[in-house]
Amino acid sequence: MNIWISGANRGLGYEAAAEAIRRGHSVIACCRNPQKDGERLYALQDHCPGRVVIAELSITDEAMVEKHAAQLQEQGTRIDAIINNAAVLVGREHSLEELQLDNMRSSFEINVFAPMNVVKHLLPFMKQRADESAEPAVIMNVSSEAGSIHHAYGGDYPYAMSKAALNMFSQQLRSYVEARGIHVYSVHPGWMRTDMGGANAPTDPADSARGMLDLIEQRVEAHTRLAFIDYLGRPMDI
Ligand code: NDP
Repeated sequence: MNIWISGANRGLGYEAAAEAIRRGHSVIACCRNPQKDGERLYALQDHCPGRVVIAELSITDEAMVEKHAAQLQEQGTRIDAIINNAAVLVGREHSLEELQLDNMRSSFEINVFAPMNVVKHLLPFMKQRADESAEPAVIMNVSSEAGSIHHAYGGDYPYAMSKAALNMFSQQLRSYVEARGIHVYSVHPGWMRTDMGGANAPTDPADSARGMLDLIEQRVEAHTRLAFIDYLGRPMDI
């Protein structure tokens, strides 16, 4: 499989890239500043020549994503899976009175508009039911339990609301592309030990990455009416 991943330089994104390579897949590993922050990706590339493409990409910049898509077209690249992983957790004020609306804007930019932008421009390069490949293609938007309306906790407005919107996008996208044989999931990866999750989190991001790859490879079936699931394929409360 050829797997496209955003925010692949660290945290869950890097683990997903490394796990995909371990399983024999190829990756298009995107990050905004590979020269500065891509050291682990370059090591992965050296280790597996020909299977790791490192793309410098600012996913919030539509013109840049369009240019990236044009390059894929020129190269005749087909994509089996998109993992929209990059996100920010900012503006952790717990009271509405302290809320900085700029944090709402930047969170929606990266956590919602960027994945939409990516899918908008990369959809033409995804394998479709009509293609030779028997495996369905997958779009995986990395979400969070924080985006569950059912479990709303009255804090983290920018992050929680942007992930709730991402879940809605996933659901709408599922309706739009399911006839083409493309599966769409909005995946809660667990509370993970990453820069975002902190050192006390219970989940190793490598375990989350393995679960996500199992879903992409259809080793775990997630036949849920709603797209929002966890990394083991279990339904999440929307
Ligand atoms: P990290 O903070 O460790 O990594 C975030 C990644 O997103 C980095 O690669 C970062 O790139 C990239 N990124 C952030 N802002 C931008 C931007 N403006 N443009 C491009 N790339 C950007 O996060 P995690 O690995 O922990 O999180 C991965 C996913 O899992 C996210 O979607 C997150 O919401 C979700 N999640 C995480 C949980 C956790 O406990 N960690 C819990 C639930 C969900 P750079 O290095 O350039 O900043």
